[in-house]
Amino acid sequence: MMENVTPNVFTTTKLRGCNPSFVTTSDGVVVIDTPQLPTKAVEMRKLAEAHGPIRYLINTEHHVDHIFGNYYFKGAGTVVNHRGVYDRFMVVYPELDPFAYAYEALPTAAGKGTGLDEPGGVALWPDRDEYYRDPNKGTIVFTGDLTLRVGDHTFNLLHTPGHTPGQLAVHVPEERVVFTGDTIFSSCQTWLMTSDVEGWLTALDRIRTLDVDWIVPGHGPVVTKACLDVQRSVLMEWKTAVAVAIAQGWTREETVARVSFAERYPVDIGQGYMMEYIQTLNAGALYDELTAATATTFPAQATPPR
Ligand SMILES: [Zn+2]
Repeated sequence: MMENVTPNVFTTTKLRGCNPSFVTTSDGVVVIDTPQLPTKAVEMRKLAEAHGPIRYLINTEHHVDHIFGNYYFKGAGTVVNHRGVYDRFMVVYPELDPFAYAYEALPTAAGKGTGLDEPGGVALWPDRDEYYRDPNKGTIVFTGDLTLRVGDHTFNLLHTPGHTPGQLAVHVPEERVVFTGDTIFSSCQTWLMTSDVEGWLTALDRIRTLDVDWIVPGHGPVVTKACLDVQRSVLMEWKTAVAVAIAQGWTREETVARVSFAERYPVDIGQGYMMEYIQTLNAGALYDELTAATATTFPAQATPPR
């Protein structure tokens, strides 16, 4: 299930959901994001614990595909969340119920026919009340940056808001690797939604300063720093295309109908049916932002998953 980035760095880029990962050290294991599918979460925990006890579990963002699987890591180390993740952890909003969304993502429940059959996921599914009694969110909660030392390894948790308010990049200098969460979508569609695009561009600049060989993105294959130029281009092209639409006098409806980057990349694994949804929400969110009387960052409402 897991692939090696370096001898101590394990990730998987082939699952529906994010790229959950772990790093092995001389004093146990650090997990970075958890699988959304229950069977995969249980499996990854076993694989991680084969290398020693799990010391910490870090989430790079609050989107459901990065945090739902925490439930299956209860009792395995201390969960570390940025305040921006902690405050939004599996919170139900009128436009998005992350618990229901995670259930619908089980291929057998939703009948989407993704080929990623998850028959065991239904058996592992918790009752909603039982889940919300303890979804296993952070007990270390911080603002700004945080550094953890585990064995001979350093984990620099860098606050890089943009895709989400509590976004983290986890830099492990000894491995020359950084885990960016959805600050990077590698060779797949970028979910903008209610992101702060300007903040996101600043986050890319911060990651650019790191001396690393590998970037483990939130979605898609492991990449080098060359991906920073690609992601910057995607963000700028989206924003420019919507700005041009507004300048041409297009209405919101016309903008949403005409501005699309669907041809650029596929949607990440198992979610091809979301393509139109992504295009519509990306264009609509940018239209609203660019036509607002005052600049808004991080609206109070929920961001859809991803
Ligand atoms: Zn996300």
